[in-house]
Amino acid sequence: MKKALIVIDYTYDFVAPDGKLTCGELGQAIDSFIAGKIEEYIQAGELVVFTNDLHIENDPYHPETKLFPPHNIAGTPGRELYGKVKGMQEIYHLASITLDKTRYSSFAGTNLHQLLQERHIHEVSLVGVCTDICVLHTAVDAYNLGYTINVYEQGVASFNTAGHIWALNHFKGTLGANIL
Ligand code: ZN
Repeated sequence: MKKALIVIDYTYDFVAPDGKLTCGELGQAIDSFIAGKIEEYIQAGELVVFTNDLHIENDPYHPETKLFPPHNIAGTPGRELYGKVKGMQEIYHLASITLDKTRYSSFAGTNLHQLLQERHIHEVSLVGVCTDICVLHTAVDAYNLGYTINVYEQGVASFNTAGHIWALNHFKGTLGANIL
């Protein structure tokens, strides 16, 4: 086990046509690519981690309450993974790890770093949504923690096309990530 595929926020609310905070068709278009990468990493004996946003409705203490409509609320279908990616998690639930996160970064308030350190994994590959929000913040934390970073260009999407392009440039030019 040398590297980990981090599947970020590929949930119903962020991807489905009627999701609460959806990336729309651009998000749905990367479903098959991500599912293929999950299969590839599992078959290669690498780690796959799903990191899914978790919120409590109208949480007065959470900064996102003022910024976004309610999404990924605990106990709602909006928190479930979407499409083929959901199917892959169901098939490989014993071979992968699923984490709840409450901030943009997959490292914020989770034990992701410990899980990777325990397995001597120093390289992370990022897929999911949104390129310029949760993928970006995860990449910044991975950079600060010293990980080698790969981002699959065909495996990330955003509702904000300008933000998506900016983030890809930032991954490469500022975080030293490999854009694959
Ligand atoms: Zn959120």
